[in-house]
Amino acid sequence: MLLEPAYDTGSTSSAQDDLVVEIHTDEGLTGIGESDVNPWIGRACIEAPGTHTMGLGLTEMLLGENPLDVERLWDKMYIGSAMNGRRGAVIHAMGAIDIALHDLRGKALGKPCYELLGGLRQPSITPYASLQPDVSSFDAYRESLLEWARKAKALGFRAAKLEVTPCGPYRHKGLDATHAQMTEAIGAVRSAVGRDFTLMVDVQYAFPDANTCLSAIRDWVDFDLFFIETPLPSDDLAGYARVATEQRIPIAAGEWLATRFEFLDLMDRGKVKVVQPDMGRVGGLTEGMRVCRLAEERNLTVVPHLWKTGISIAAALHMAIATPHCAFIEFLPAELCESALRKELVTSEPRMVDGVLPPPSLPGLGVELNRDALARFCEAARRIP
Ligand SMILES: [Mg+2]
Repeated sequence: MLLEPAYDTGSTSSAQDDLVVEIHTDEGLTGIGESDVNPWIGRACIEAPGTHTMGLGLTEMLLGENPLDVERLWDKMYIGSAMNGRRGAVIHAMGAIDIALHDLRGKALGKPCYELLGGLRQPSITPYASLQPDVSSFDAYRESLLEWARKAKALGFRAAKLEVTPCGPYRHKGLDATHAQMTEAIGAVRSAVGRDFTLMVDVQYAFPDANTCLSAIRDWVDFDLFFIETPLPSDDLAGYARVATEQRIPIAAGEWLATRFEFLDLMDRGKVKVVQPDMGRVGGLTEGMRVCRLAEERNLTVVPHLWKTGISIAAALHMAIATPHCAFIEFLPAELCESALRKELVTSEPRMVDGVLPPPSLPGLGVELNRDALARFCEAARRIP
């Protein structure tokens, strides 16, 4: 369990905590994974003892197993934890374990994870910078968004996503603005970065229903957005279907979802054009690849969600390299992020070269934990009563 020492419970960013799993084998190999779930809850899911055959603990199901048999182990954990799991926190915790198993298998076989997930299907992946200014007035927010978008472009990014959240459940630090002000802020960024730069917008569940959303985003079609992310409450799939089909901007969603089964609902009932599995939360690389295959069958684009550290960046990159219809991966640039946890947890992480991420070459995920930083973030979590 890890915590950013300067965490702020009033902040909406989940990059302030982390659940990291490290799996060791009797032959001395290790694998690491992480998940975007409350680390205390995730840890309980992993360590709880089983009390009956359909309520087994995740750790006990893995002890003595062959760690190279990753996909079978996913299915074993899914079935053995079914009365407590199937969705939600148990699947998110399984995701951290599954990523660690993929890392371990890659190291054991001396191959980067993507080679074991189907091989090189794209020569490189374009990351997009996620920009979420940490301010408390809309004027400051708008200015910060403009400045960060310019900075992202100057850093070499070819794409950026604007977190435009002055209303709804993710309303940041008391921000407040009208839909017209949101439109104006997005237009200002588009003018600032020019037309040759890809822009996405994440409104983070801002609109209560499809009618409100359709009216609020009516003028956004002029901004040439690659997608609008999570415009409606997560469970309003009928609303998603309307917004996806009654206007022209592609709709994206999926960051909270666990398992391919929730994605099937989102794709087939919600009619979204872009699916956004989060590596840990969906259930790890195993389940992430299953979602990618289902999206491919439906001609949908995959753009993984990512709000954690270099571990998840690496996991998403391996999945993307093995997935021809993955257009971008999300990337929280260390240079434009407040969280020390995000910036310092791993010593080496995928680096952008000329605006793209090349295929990783090291075995497994190809990232190593910074042990000093790990100890510091664990200590910060231990201080919570
Ligand atoms: Mg989002």
